[in-house]
Amino acid sequence: MKKIVFVILIMLVIPYLHSYNVSGGSNDKILELINGVSEEELYHYDKTIQDFGPHPTGSEECNAVGEFIYNEFIRYGLNTTYHEWRMKGLEGKNVIATIPGETNFTVILSAHYDSVDVSPGADDDGSGTSCLLMAAKVLSNHTFRHTIKLIAFSGEENGLYGSSVYAREAYMKGEKILADIQLDGVGHAVSREGGSTIRLSTNGESTWITDMAQNMIDNYGNHIGLKILRQRDFAGSDHQSFLNYGYEGVFFLEYEFNPYYHSPQDTIEHVNMSYLAKVCKLAIATLSGVADKDVNIFTRIVKPERGAIYFGDRKIMELNSYHTIVFGRIRVGVEITSGEKIRRVDFYFDGEYRGTDEENPYEYEYGNIAFFKHNIRAVAHGETNEDGNEVEMTVFNIIPRYWLS
Ligand SMILES: [Zn+2]
Repeated sequence: MKKIVFVILIMLVIPYLHSYNVSGGSNDKILELINGVSEEELYHYDKTIQDFGPHPTGSEECNAVGEFIYNEFIRYGLNTTYHEWRMKGLEGKNVIATIPGETNFTVILSAHYDSVDVSPGADDDGSGTSCLLMAAKVLSNHTFRHTIKLIAFSGEENGLYGSSVYAREAYMKGEKILADIQLDGVGHAVSREGGSTIRLSTNGESTWITDMAQNMIDNYGNHIGLKILRQRDFAGSDHQSFLNYGYEGVFFLEYEFNPYYHSPQDTIEHVNMSYLAKVCKLAIATLSGVADKDVNIFTRIVKPERGAIYFGDRKIMELNSYHTIVFGRIRVGVEITSGEKIRRVDFYFDGEYRGTDEENPYEYEYGNIAFFKHNIRAVAHGETNEDGNEVEMTVFNIIPRYWLS
């Protein structure tokens, strides 16, 4: 009798256990976003972009592609602006759509819409740009904790111009960007292996973004159909501009080398639409994961600033690049945004632990003799979480500390 009751109880509970597992591992919002990605629409976007012909920055065709993107963002009801930039005698516009969140943090999904002189750029980077437009459509029906920006950069092929001006201005304004997810060349695949693998490249501080993407595959793998190849430090696209200013970012890149890259044959015939759709699903799921994530600690080194020359404590000049130059002692200042109590901030010089500050304002001084390239890293420790940030600088300090004290 008892046994029967037990069996009945188990039978009653099993269906709930099952449904609990499914909803525990999934989330309807993300599934909805993934299912909103359509191969047909990606094809339409990419075909439209390549049909403008080669569209290098500064050309009429490039402006026309920019306008096409602008109008699509508007069509999906997103707050859309042009961000005009000028660098080394070249002028261009980035196109930005914003989905406002509830916090002061921003997450960026980006691609570049300019091509090289001879190429219609269906893969480089019509593929990433098409996914950006797809994202505009599927994200426009949802809300997120953090602000999402979809940015189509220009000037990439000239040397990451559009994104470097953007990242610098964001840095100067103190914008709190959690991550830039850059898609550049994400549509070429001819083999089975190529069609099921995507490269995700980050620097050391940014590996958590790849972890987030892997998490999406662990939970929604059947709906995405990709595996991740983790890579380190591929600098060749716009995410690098964000890394240069101390932000974190990831670069999505196709697994197989595209032999039509930067040639007149970079056309829609050589873009694998089902592969592009898979990558786009993963990118949007990852973006959404970051846009809804808890931000426990957000650490930034605010002194010395990037893109400036210091004489000891004093900023004497701003530079036209992200480089930092320090004459004399290095004085480091850290700013922390945190939802938990900060216990301490540890400082590292060229990877070696050098000191701790337990009180706000968190500061550290490096007074030893130093020449040329060095790197300072600050790691804030809270009750349960930690977050680091680092700055690279060129240092000229010929006066040892004991001369002055
Ligand atoms: Zn590219």
